Amino acid sequence: MQVPPAILDAFDPERLRAEGHRLIDALADQLARWHARDGLPLPWRDPSEARRAWAQTLGGEGGAVPAGAPGQLVEDLVGVARASTALAHPHVMGHQVAAPLPAAVLAETVAALVNNGVGVAEMGPAGVPIELAVIDWMCRRLGLPAGAGGAMTSGGSLGNLTALLAMRQARGGHDVWRDGAHAGPPLAVVVSADVHYSISRALQIMGWGEAGAIVAPVDAHHRMTAAAARGALAEAGGRRVIGIVAAAGSTATGAFDPLDDLADLAAEHGLWLHVDAAHGGSVALSPALRGKLRGIERADSIVWDAHKLMMMPALVTAVLFRREPHVYAAFAQHASYLFEAAPPEERWWDLGQRTLECTKRMMALEVWACLRAHGEALFGEIVDRQHALACELAGLIEAAPDFELALSPESNIVCYRHVPGPSEAIPREMAPDLDAHNRALRARVVADGRFYVVGAQLPGGYYLRSTMMNPMIETRDLVGLLEHLRELCRR
Ligand SMILES: *Cc1c(COP(=O)(O)O)cnc(C)c1O
Repeated sequence: MQVPPAILDAFDPERLRAEGHRLIDALADQLARWHARDGLPLPWRDPSEARRAWAQTLGGEGGAVPAGAPGQLVEDLVGVARASTALAHPHVMGHQVAAPLPAAVLAETVAALVNNGVGVAEMGPAGVPIELAVIDWMCRRLGLPAGAGGAMTSGGSLGNLTALLAMRQARGGHDVWRDGAHAGPPLAVVVSADVHYSISRALQIMGWGEAGAIVAPVDAHHRMTAAAARGALAEAGGRRVIGIVAAAGSTATGAFDPLDDLADLAAEHGLWLHVDAAHGGSVALSPALRGKLRGIERADSIVWDAHKLMMMPALVTAVLFRREPHVYAAFAQHASYLFEAAPPEERWWDLGQRTLECTKRMMALEVWACLRAHGEALFGEIVDRQHALACELAGLIEAAPDFELALSPESNIVCYRHVPGPSEAIPREMAPDLDAHNRALRARVVADGRFYVVGAQLPGGYYLRSTMMNPMIETRDLVGLLEHLRELCRR
């Protein structure tokens, strides 16, 4: 039976070669334009209008989508790049999403081509050992002792859920996997007031309700101190507290909780310590900054997103355990058609036992390829630069009479707000109006599209928030940002 011509053409290696060369050339040109600060970094459109326009590309409500003319693929894909938020453009200083390393982009192409799932070793003869090698490297960089281990999973949110499920199975006091969440007393963990929403969401997915989190207040530096966590422990009431969730790089402000102190407290009470280092884990790669993570090696579980400060395209998340057997506690299930009926540790090479995914992408490939291409020192240099850029922006804000810094940046996140001068409409002391003013300012930034910043509601009010996720940002971009915000206020 011969392969029909349309199928033959779609799978033709020569077609991949020709289109691939043209696409890579076009993408390299586009990257150069972004670096040259050419074009709008945020091509924002009204969502309804954008939805209609993109629906038209699939024929609207008409018939089947026809094959495009030669060149359609490259033209379409370059068009998508141009219509997207340009994270590589140095005027983008918004969310914690990396301007990815080009080497990682190439690695992702290979992952797509070979498409080996890494849930089962036989399906990923290179992907599985590469993932384990990257996991072991990450454990070493965090200073975890021998016997630590983990797995890659699809994002920090799922990583946090995985770690908390393992904590519950290990410390819940009964076999939750077999007997169900309601078979024991109500359980809870201590979290900080600045905890990432994925932690609260995980606790509620686990069936603990809002009562599953006992919230400890943060100090003036947005850190959860051991004293605050101790105070929260005293509020347990009828709940059995089984863990403490600390942040190493909180999302709102980038603050690092004092992990050593919290590890002491956890040890004193026999609690599981989970460190959400989704944002800040990469600080371990900087000799100058890794002290911020002191104590992380004592955590029972850790989540580290390589798609944040390690500059990987999303999603590449490691969920790590100080004692590797805990990696099997989260999903204590057997699926005979995938895994042998042996104890999971005896089939350590079948990674699907460790995480929620069944089919899982070769997400560690990008980290492995970039480490080998660029060497590990580059990553420390990038982390240092993002931090230095944040400090520089904070310095400019402190020196400016019309801007106010929320707190000195501990990592690459800066929270600040515009404060109109006495001649302008809003009196300083009218904080709610100051909030409204800065919210309106951010809306204007988005509608304008020449820069991008986001916002955060902090106890002191609403602040603009800029995260340095692109090492190509320079001083002129930071100065330009403040000038741009002023100009939008004057208009
Ligand atoms: C980004 C982040 C998360 C969520 O990670 P995703 O990969 O976006 O799912 C969780 N916690 C913290 C502290 C984060 O910064």
